Amino acid sequence: MRYLRILIWSLLSIMRSQLVGQPVYTVDPQFSVHDLQPYLEYIHDVDQVITPEQVLSDSALVFTIQDERTRYLRIGEIYWGRITLQTSKALEGWTLNFEDRLEGLPAWTKSNGQVDVYGFSRGNQIFHKKTGVEYPSKERDVQDTWFLNKVSIADVPIDQPIDLVIKIKGNALGYPPYFHATLRSPKQPYYQKAFAFGESFNVFMLGVTFIIFLYHFLQFLYLRERLFLWFSLWVLFCCLTMAMSVGLIIGAVHQYRYPMWNIIANGVMYSFWFFGRSFINSKAKFPKLDRFILMLSIAMIVEILLTALYVSVFNPQTYLTGVGIHYKMIILYSSLSIVVSIILMLKKDWFARYFGFGAIIVSLAFVVGGLWSERIIRLPIDSVPVDPYAWGMFLQIVIYSFGIAYRQRTLLLKSQEEKLEAQKNYAEMERIKDLDEIKTQFYTNLSHEFRTPLSLIAGPLELARKSQDRPGAPIQISPKTFNIIERNTQRLQHLIDQLLELSQLESGKVHLKLSQGNLIQFLKSIAFSFESMSESKGLSFNTSFPEELPMAYYDKDKLEKIIGNLLSNAFKYTSDGGAVTLSVDFSESHYVIEISDTGKGMTKEEVKRIFERFYRVEGTEAKGSGIGLAIAKEMVDLHNGQISVNSRMGEGTNFKVRIPYTLECLPEHRLLVSPKNTSAPSISEKDPDLPSGFVLNGETPSPPAQHATNNNLPLVLLVEDNPDLREHIGQILNKRYRVLSAEDGVKGERLAIEHIPDIIISDVMMPKKDGYQLCNDLKSNTKTSHIPILMLTAKAGQDNKMEGLTLGADAYVIKPFNSEELLIRINNLINNRVKLWEYFNAMEFVVVEDLDVQSVDDQFLQQVMHIIRSNVDNEFLSVEDVAQEVGFSRSQLHRKLKALCNKSANQLIIEFRLNEAKRMLENKVGTVSEVAYSVGYSNMSYFTKSFKQKFGMLPSKV
Ligand code: ADP
Repeated sequence: MRYLRILIWSLLSIMRSQLVGQPVYTVDPQFSVHDLQPYLEYIHDVDQVITPEQVLSDSALVFTIQDERTRYLRIGEIYWGRITLQTSKALEGWTLNFEDRLEGLPAWTKSNGQVDVYGFSRGNQIFHKKTGVEYPSKERDVQDTWFLNKVSIADVPIDQPIDLVIKIKGNALGYPPYFHATLRSPKQPYYQKAFAFGESFNVFMLGVTFIIFLYHFLQFLYLRERLFLWFSLWVLFCCLTMAMSVGLIIGAVHQYRYPMWNIIANGVMYSFWFFGRSFINSKAKFPKLDRFILMLSIAMIVEILLTALYVSVFNPQTYLTGVGIHYKMIILYSSLSIVVSIILMLKKDWFARYFGFGAIIVSLAFVVGGLWSERIIRLPIDSVPVDPYAWGMFLQIVIYSFGIAYRQRTLLLKSQEEKLEAQKNYAEMERIKDLDEIKTQFYTNLSHEFRTPLSLIAGPLELARKSQDRPGAPIQISPKTFNIIERNTQRLQHLIDQLLELSQLESGKVHLKLSQGNLIQFLKSIAFSFESMSESKGLSFNTSFPEELPMAYYDKDKLEKIIGNLLSNAFKYTSDGGAVTLSVDFSESHYVIEISDTGKGMTKEEVKRIFERFYRVEGTEAKGSGIGLAIAKEMVDLHNGQISVNSRMGEGTNFKVRIPYTLECLPEHRLLVSPKNTSAPSISEKDPDLPSGFVLNGETPSPPAQHATNNNLPLVLLVEDNPDLREHIGQILNKRYRVLSAEDGVKGERLAIEHIPDIIISDVMMPKKDGYQLCNDLKSNTKTSHIPILMLTAKAGQDNKMEGLTLGADAYVIKPFNSEELLIRINNLINNRVKLWEYFNAMEFVVVEDLDVQSVDDQFLQQVMHIIRSNVDNEFLSVEDVAQEVGFSRSQLHRKLKALCNKSANQLIIEFRLNEAKRMLENKVGTVSEVAYSVGYSNMSYFTKSFKQKFGMLPSKV
C-alpha cells in the first residue's frame, strides 16, 4: 500500500516538477500526525555551496524522495530537503519534527547537528527557523528538548502553498543526519514514548539519583564525613549522566558538549572507586590494593581529560561519541575493576566484601556497555530501551545506598561501643581520681587523728624530761600527767583497732557470722551493760523490749558493736540529767532498734555527714575520732539493714537501725555458727572515755561464766584503775586463773584480805591508795604478807623498781608488757611457793621455832606452831581455835597456810602431834600410850593407825 502510494507520488512529483513544480501537501488538522517523509525531496550538498533559493527554484538540482534504505544519511555531510504545505486552518501549536527513530542510544549521542528551516511564500522567504544540538539553545525555534529537532509551524499562512526548504547537518559527535519529517499537533507531541519526558526510565533514574545525591550531600554537610562527599559526588555524576540521557544539559552547552559528556558520564566510572576507598577504608586496611585502585582511577581520569581535550582542540570525526581508543580504555578499566572487586570480595572484611559485590555488578555493566558502544556486541536495546550504563548505575546506587546505611549502622554500633568503653574508662578514671582524693583526705584526717594523742603523749614526756633535776636523775611524772599519757596511748590503740575494723569491713573480707538465738535476751544484756554508765553519768536510761522473739539469726559481735556505738554516743553527747532510751521492735523479718537521747542534737548539715569517716560535729572533736558511726553504718550495711538519724538541735537525737533476722532477708555471704557459741554476750567496748565499771566491775571475776566454776584454778587479784587495761589483763589471765579485780588500792586491799588470793597484780598509779602503799600494807599484814605481788608500772627507772621491791613487791612488769611475759612472771611467782613448801616440808615444822625468823610469814608460821605446840596435849584443839588465836578467819587461815606450806591447819595440827610423838618415843620419854595421850590422842588405835600412816611403822617399834 505504502509502496503504491510512493509510486503514485513519485509519478505525481515528476509530473509536478515538470508541469506545476513541487506537489502541495495539504494539512488536514483532523489528524494529529502527518508523516511528510514520502513527500519530502532531498539533495546531498556535497560541496556545501547550495543556497535555500537554489533549493527552491534551481531546476538544475536533482532531488530525490528519501526511501527506507536512506533514512540515515552520511555523517558529516550537508543535505537539503524541500516540501510544499498548504493548510485551510490555523495550525496552532503544531510543529515540524525531524524524528530520530533510532531508539536506545543515550540522547547525547543523538540529534542532527544543525537544522535550518526556511519558509517561502510565493517565492519570498517568510521565515528562517533553526533547531539541532549544534545551534545555541536561544537560536533554536522551540525551546523544547534539543534532540527532538523541531520547529513551530503555527505561523504559516492559511490557504496558500508554503514552500519549506530544510538544510540538515549531522551531529559532530558522529551521529548521521536525518530528515524523518513529520507534522505533529500539540495533542501528540512525541514521536517516541521513551522521550516523553516523565515516562522514561532515565527520567525516573534522574529523580532517584537526584534525591539520593541530595540526601547524602546533606549528610556530608552535617556529618562532615568524606564517605558521604565521595558518595554524593558519584551520585551527582550519575544524576548528571541521567539528565544528559534524557536530553538535559547537553543542549545548553552545545559547544562543549563532548568534554561535558566525557567528563560527567565517564566520571561515574572512576568516582565510585573514590567512594569505595573511603567506604572500605582501604588505605588503612589494604594499602597495596588501595594504591592500585587509586592508580586505576587516576589513569581513567587522565584518559578522559585527554580525550576531552583532543576532541575540543582537533575536532576529530567521532562515531557515536567514540573517540580513538576511549571505549577500549573503558573496557580495560572496567575489566580491571572487576578484578579489584573480586579481590575485595575475597577479603575478610565485610565492608570490602560488600563494596566488591557492588563494584562487580557495575563494572560488569560497564564492560558490557563498552563492548556495546564499541559495537562488538549487540543488545536488544530496541525492546528494552535502557542502556547498560543506566542499569549498572541503578543497581549500584541501590546497593551502595543500602551499603552506606549498613556501614553507618555498623560504625554507629561500634562507635557506641567505643563511646561506652570510653565512658567506662572515664568513669573509672574519675573513680580513681575520687579514690585518690578520698585517700588523701583519709590520710590527712588520719595523721591529724594520730597527731592529737601523740602530742598528748609526747608533750608531757618532754615536759617531764625538762623538769629532770640533773642528767641521770629520775624523771618525775605526776599521776595526772601519767594518766593523760596513758589515756592517749589507749586512745591511739582504740583508733588503730577501729581503723583496722573499718578497713576490714571496707575490703569486703568481713562476713556475717550468724547464729540462731534469743535476740531479745541478747539485746537486753547489751543494754544492761550500760546501766552502770547511766548511773555514773546521772542519766536516766529507759529500755523497752518486746515479747520474746523466739529464734532469730544475728551476728553477735557486730550487733554489739553497732548498738554499743550508738549507746555510748548517746551517753557521751547527753549531759547530766538527760535521758537515753533504747527500744526494740520487730516485724516478720526485721527488728528495729531505736536509740534516742535528749542530748545536744545536731543540725541537718551535721546529720548528713556523721557517717563519714573522721567526721565529728564541731566542738565534739575531743570526745572521739569520728569513726564509730562509719563502722556502725558499714556493719548495718553488711546486714542489708538500714540506719537512719533524726536529730534536732538542742532537743536530742534518734538513731533507728533496721536489720533483718531471717535467713531469707539476710545477705547470702555469711557464715552460720552453732548456737552454743553465742549464749552470753561479752561486751568488748574499748572506748577510753567509758567510765570505770563498764567492763569488769569491782569484784566480778572475769569472765564470770567460765572461771567462777573452776575453783581449783589459782585466784589472782588485779588492782588496776584503767578499765580497759583491767579487762585486757583479765582476758590474758582468765584461761589459767580466776580473776578478781579492783579499781583502786583501797578496794584492792580489802579484797586481798577477804579472799587471800594466790597472787596480786597491782598498778602503781591508782586513786585512793597507790601501788606502793598497797604493797606495803599487804606485806605488813600477816594475813596477806605471803601473797606474791606483781607490780605493773610504766615507770621503767631502776630507782622505781627498787622502791617497789624494798616495799615488798615480788616482781615488776613494765607497761606496755606483752601477755606472755606477764603469764610467765605470774607462773614463776606461784611456783616459788612450791619451793617454799618443800622447804617447810623438809623442816618438818619442829624446828621452825628455832629459826632466826624475820619475815612476817615466818613469824606467822612460828606463831601458829607456837599455838599448836602449847596445845599439843589438847585433844580438842580446833582450826577455829588456832585462827582465833592468830586473829584470822577460818578460811583466811586455811588459805594462808595452804599458800605457805600447802597444808591445811588441821593437817598441820595432826602432823605436829605425830612428829612430837615420834620425837618423844625416840627420846623414850614414856610409853606409847603416855606419849599418845600427851600429844592429844585419847584413842590409842586411831593414834597407832595415824602414826603408821605417817611414818610407815608402829609407834611401838620406834
Ligand atoms: P565519735 O567517736 O567521735 O563519737 P562517731 O562516728 O560515733 O564518732 O560520731 C560522729 C559524730 O557524730 C560525733 O563526733 C558527734 O559529734 C556526732 N554524734 C553521734 N551521735 C550523737 C548523738 N547521739 N548526739 C549528738 N551528736 C552525736
